[in-house]
Amino acid sequence: MLNEKMLQLGENRSVIREIFEYGNKRRAEIGAENVFDFSLGNPSIPAPHKVNEAMIKLLSETDPVKLHGYTSAQGAPDVRKTIADSITHRFGIGADANLIYMTCGAAASLTISLNAICNQGDEVIALAPFFPEYRVFVEKAGAKLVVAKCRESDFQIDFGALENAITPNTKAIIVNSPNNPTGVVFSKDTIEELASLLNKKQQEYGKRIFIICDEPYRELAYGVDVPYIPNFYDNTLVCYSYSKSLSLPGERIGYIFVSPNIDNCNKVYAAVCGAGRALGFVCAPSLLQFTVKDCVELTSDISVYKKNRDLLYNNLTEYGYTAAKPDGAFYLFIKSPEADANAFCERAKKYELLLVPSDSFGYEGYVRISYCVSTEQIEKSLPYFKELIEEYK
Ligand code: PLP
Repeated sequence: MLNEKMLQLGENRSVIREIFEYGNKRRAEIGAENVFDFSLGNPSIPAPHKVNEAMIKLLSETDPVKLHGYTSAQGAPDVRKTIADSITHRFGIGADANLIYMTCGAAASLTISLNAICNQGDEVIALAPFFPEYRVFVEKAGAKLVVAKCRESDFQIDFGALENAITPNTKAIIVNSPNNPTGVVFSKDTIEELASLLNKKQQEYGKRIFIICDEPYRELAYGVDVPYIPNFYDNTLVCYSYSKSLSLPGERIGYIFVSPNIDNCNKVYAAVCGAGRALGFVCAPSLLQFTVKDCVELTSDISVYKKNRDLLYNNLTEYGYTAAKPDGAFYLFIKSPEADANAFCERAKKYELLLVPSDSFGYEGYVRISYCVSTEQIEKSLPYFKELIEEYK
């Protein structure tokens, strides 16, 4: 007898993957240049040169036994120290190497963090719309996912909805900014209000509530500040990833930072180490650990994403689509012109526009467009977006 839940997860592909597979079929049939595939969040810009150079240098100059060997389970001490120093330098919070745990990207950071803090019966709040895998990660950690919808006007937090979602069983809230799928960056006001609400609830229930900040898009912000949540709220775990900031999603590298302001932060860190051990997420890839150590404050050249954002947002809103202006990540979240976003996405396929309906993000009636594609593809797609909305006029 197999584990039914795992079987079900393995047999049912995510909606995004389904669309991507459909795109593969169409690419084979009519040529890749004629398919406008906005389904996947796969970076379309290369990693900075320095990343490749650092890897080549490591491969040619480092003792291979050390380079390819196991590091400490939580990551090499010098890598963790470099990252901690960078956090201290960038955000002014006294980070320490002994509060950093190296991981295989944000997905691993999230699962480890959730397993470190959750017990059966706990509740974890996700702010909708949210990255669909949150449900899988939270449930695997034995907790229940509770959804609080964001405000439709600007996709900032709806504090009424959030307060209603918090109960004595709330263990954590996952905060993802810049956000997938809206591209919205939570403002300083939003984060301050969030901290104040959670502090009030912690007092009311006499227990701590964690913020798990999911930060793969931190560096992808277009002229706005992304507030660093540990500076606003003590009980915070940061789940960072280099997948998007350094365009290395296939290499699987990131980290967890346990805020030093958490009471007994060393115990929380020990639970993180324990969860990493229990999940088999020990010793993140050594070559990648040493590479990010050498590239710690670098970011890919994100100017193409900004250009794509401007091109899409400005033109689509001019054609009559509505969307919150995305200040970060590489997603645009447009309102479906018909109530059923799935039907709208089916209709879009007529124009070879592959879009993701919002239902799996826990928010109906919208569509996600991933604009991490070439600018030329976007330029070519614009007349089709125009024709598509004209059908509704
Ligand atoms: N969280 C969000 C919001 C994401 O969009 C993604 C990937 O797209 C992840 C986590 C997982 O990132 P990683 O590739 O670093 O595991």
